[in-house]
Amino acid sequence: MSFIEERNQKAQETLRKAFQKRNMEMHYCSTAAQAKETILSLIPEGSSVTWGGTESMKEAGVLDALYQKNYTIINRADAKTPEESRALYGKMVCCDYFLTSTNAFTVNGELVNVDGASNRVACIAHGPQHVIVLASMDKLCASVPDAYDRIRALASPPNALRVGANTPCAKTGVCGDCLSPDCICCQILVTRYSRVPGRIQIVLCGEKLGF
Ligand code: SF4
Repeated sequence: MSFIEERNQKAQETLRKAFQKRNMEMHYCSTAAQAKETILSLIPEGSSVTWGGTESMKEAGVLDALYQKNYTIINRADAKTPEESRALYGKMVCCDYFLTSTNAFTVNGELVNVDGASNRVACIAHGPQHVIVLASMDKLCASVPDAYDRIRALASPPNALRVGANTPCAKTGVCGDCLSPDCICCQILVTRYSRVPGRIQIVLCGEKLGF
């Protein structure tokens, strides 16, 4: 076992208690394959399922695996017109399970996310009945300010490249604190408590995923 994995194993109980006191449940998986199986086991057959932009879920193979199961899939990429897109967004808000990653999380059990279009942070905050968050342990930060620094330095620039945004970070690789039309840092969400116990389930993964 590597020292990093040993640290992850030892940090589990501290993190689980930190999330529990905020009404969120946590699971720990050493590998992405285990994380995928854990996530699928949390979603009952027949559920409606959708997701926000999430490289972590994609890299772990969760999104592909959803199509092999008996779920009603709501995929906003299926929209062919602005009207269809708007209708799909409406369905996403009312779905049973919303899958996402988190840009960062803290040792105190807070989730920190920034978003551009902001459907992802909206659905984390309210709407879907259940939210499943997949995050690799490299997203662990000491505090909310540290999490925000991590996002600006490590998460948003590659995300801007992923979505083809015309932003300073996409050009230079570092945050320019922009107010540009393509900005992907329009909203900042700190999830510090869930009023609905267990609505948010967090699957932490020892293997690196996403940004
Ligand atoms: S340059 Fe703009 S889009 Fe890029 S990380 Fe900074 S605020 Fe976000």
